[in-house]
Parts: sequence; C-alpha cells; structure tokens
Amino acid sequence: MMRIARQARALYVDLSQQGVLRDIYHPRPTYMFARTDEEVAVIARHGSDLLDQGESIIPMTHAELMKRVPGLGQHVLAGMKVPLDGHAVGYRVVERFLAASGVVPQRHTAVEHLMLSGDRVIGVKTARQRIEADRVVVAAGLGSAGLVGLEGRLIPRKGQLIVTDRASLSGAALPGPLMSAGYLAAKRDLVLKQSSISLVIDPLTTGQFLIGSSRETGFTDRQTDVQTVSTLLREALLVYPALACQRVIRTFAGIRIGTCDGLPIVGRHPDVTDLFIATGMEGDGISLAPIIGCAIADMVLDRPARFDLQLLDPGRFKSLPISAG
Ligand SMILES: Cc1cc2nc3c(=O)[nH]c(=O)nc-3n(C[C@H](O)[C@H](O)[C@H](O)COP(=O)(O)OP(=O)(O)OC[C@H]3O[C@@H](n4cnc5c(N)ncnc54)[C@H](O)[C@@H]3O)c2cc1C
Repeated sequence: MMRIARQARALYVDLSQQGVLRDIYHPRPTYMFARTDEEVAVIARHGSDLLDQGESIIPMTHAELMKRVPGLGQHVLAGMKVPLDGHAVGYRVVERFLAASGVVPQRHTAVEHLMLSGDRVIGVKTARQRIEADRVVVAAGLGSAGLVGLEGRLIPRKGQLIVTDRASLSGAALPGPLMSAGYLAAKRDLVLKQSSISLVIDPLTTGQFLIGSSRETGFTDRQTDVQTVSTLLREALLVYPALACQRVIRTFAGIRIGTCDGLPIVGRHPDVTDLFIATGMEGDGISLAPIIGCAIADMVLDRPARFDLQLLDPGRFKSLPISAG
C-alpha cells in the first residue's frame, strides 16, 4: 500500500503540473509525533518502512519539533517529518475531475440492481429507469456491498471531526499537519480496537484547524457526540495547547469504508464480465482517488495498465454472488 500511496501522490503532482489539479494539490510536510515509548517505536517502524520505499524522512527530537511547530505541548516526546507530502480537499478534487471530463452526475438516483444477461452486466436499474451500459463500474462506498456481493466484507468506520475558527488570516497556521503515532497504528492494523481516537491536527489553508478523528467500527450514522468530541479536544490540547485560543465552529462525521483484509477492492468482478469495482479505501480514498480512477479507466477502456494494482484485485475473494434485477 505504501508503494501505491507514493505513486498516487506522484500522480497528484503530475496532474497539478498538467493543470487538471492546479491550485487543488498543495505540497506540504507531515509532522508525526509520539507521546509514549510505544508510539516512539511505531514511528521508528513506520520511518524505516518509508525509507525502504525510498521516501525521505527527518527524525526529530522534542526540541527540533518545537522549533518547527511553536506551541507544541510538553507531552510530545519525539517525532518525524515527512517533507514531501501534500494536501488536497476531496470534494474540490471531485469537482475538478467532473469539470475536466464533462460528466454530469445524476444525483439522488440510487442504483437498485445491476442488469445481467447470463454472466455479463448490461446496465443498471434505478427506481425510475433502466440504463443500458457496455461496462459498469460500481464505486458506491457502502452501497457497493449489496450490488456486487461484498456483504460482510466491507466494514464501515465512522469518523468524527471538529472545525475551529481561524488561527491565521494569511493561510495555514502551521507548516503541516500534526499526526499522532496512534493514527498510524490504527491505519496499519485495521482490527486494532472497536473504537479508537487517531488524532490529526490539520491546518487548513483558510487558517482554520480541522481536528480529527475517531474510528468507530460498525457505525454508519453521521451523528457527533459530546463524549467523542470532548476526548478529541482534550487530546488535541495536550499535543498543541495553542489551540485553547480557538473557538469550535462545527463538528461533523463521515463514514470510511474499510475491508475485511484491510486492502481496497479495485478491479474486475471475478464472476461477472464487464463489471468493475472500486471501493474499500478506508481513510485513504482522497489520496488514492486519481490513481484508482486512472487504473479503472485503463481497465474499462482496454488500455495498457499504467499502474499495477493487482494487490487490490477483487478476485482475491473466492466468490462474490450478486443478485440482479
Ligand atoms: C473522518 C474521515 C477522515 C478522512 N480522512 C481522509 C484523509 O485524510 N485522506 C484520504 O485520502 N481520505 C480520507 N478519508 C476517506 C475518504 O473520504 C474516503 O475514502 C472516500 O471518500 C471514499 O470515496 P468513495 O468514492 O469510495 O466512497 P464515498 O465517498 O462513500 O462515495 C460513494 C458514493 O456512492 C453513492 N451511492 C451509494 N450507494 C449507491 C447506489 N446504490 N447507487 C448510486 N450511488 C450510490 C453514495 O451516495 C456516495 O455518493 C476520510 C474519511 C473520513 C470519514
């Protein structure tokens, strides 16, 4: 996944230089931090894996982190800077791709069934109409489960987030996000705990902070609750006490879709011809969106593959029985 993530980031840079994502993708470093000896070990392991993949990293002591991120709390023991990371806002990426492709989505139009002829997909059926198609890509998040036989294999994980008012009137208030080692641990081990907090303090270009987030396995509602929001705020204040000056202006929640083996599911349906799946990106769907989009486009259009996503092939599941309408 690290190889694919690095290719995905390089594609963001390319698309930004080509103009499709100009002013949408912004290079910036990530600062990972550890508050306990276990977390120091998690960061060391992650750093060594990044180095193995050819990524640059800069290990930092507490004093070095303080120089880069003034206002950091005494609870942070050490950290690591990943200098060549970047940031893009998900919905702006989607808007840009839609504009570039000329595609006009039919909103509020759920697909109820796939239409099959033998073992071939021939279109989709909504409440109002049947839409014929040579090929169908199902990229419907949790809605993919019933359509392509992934019930029990997709795992929803709710995440609650907090938005503050502006700490800066001239762009981001910090050079990059502060990412806890707990966040890495939660991502690397999908079944770590039923629910956990994986803290990231993200300085937005508006000068606000986005503080997240929880990982609540099995939850599909989008409610925020006082308990989780207050835990997130308490942890964030310990790491970055300067936040105490900010006001909370909004809280919200979203659903990540993980998978039973921790890998996204991207590629041809193993049993149904001309049917493709792209889902299960958990907390990485914005980072991976362009690379997965390119890979699926290559498959659908029978072009030579630009990216090797074999690891994510749906064929790794023995059978994905689907019910057609
Ligand atoms: C708190 C939180 C923090 C995150 N942070 C990051 C991050 O830092 N970096 C990152 O890369 N990613 C992050 N993500 C993950 C990212 O948002 C997701 O991976 C990504 O949105 C998944 O995109 P998707 O298109 O696969 O699914 P979705 O965004 O879920 O889109 C699926 C779409 O399909 C539609 N649909 C469902 N059923 C049907 C149907 N039957 N017919 C038609 N349409 C249907 C839905 O309405 C929806 O519009 C985060 C997510 C959360 C919740």
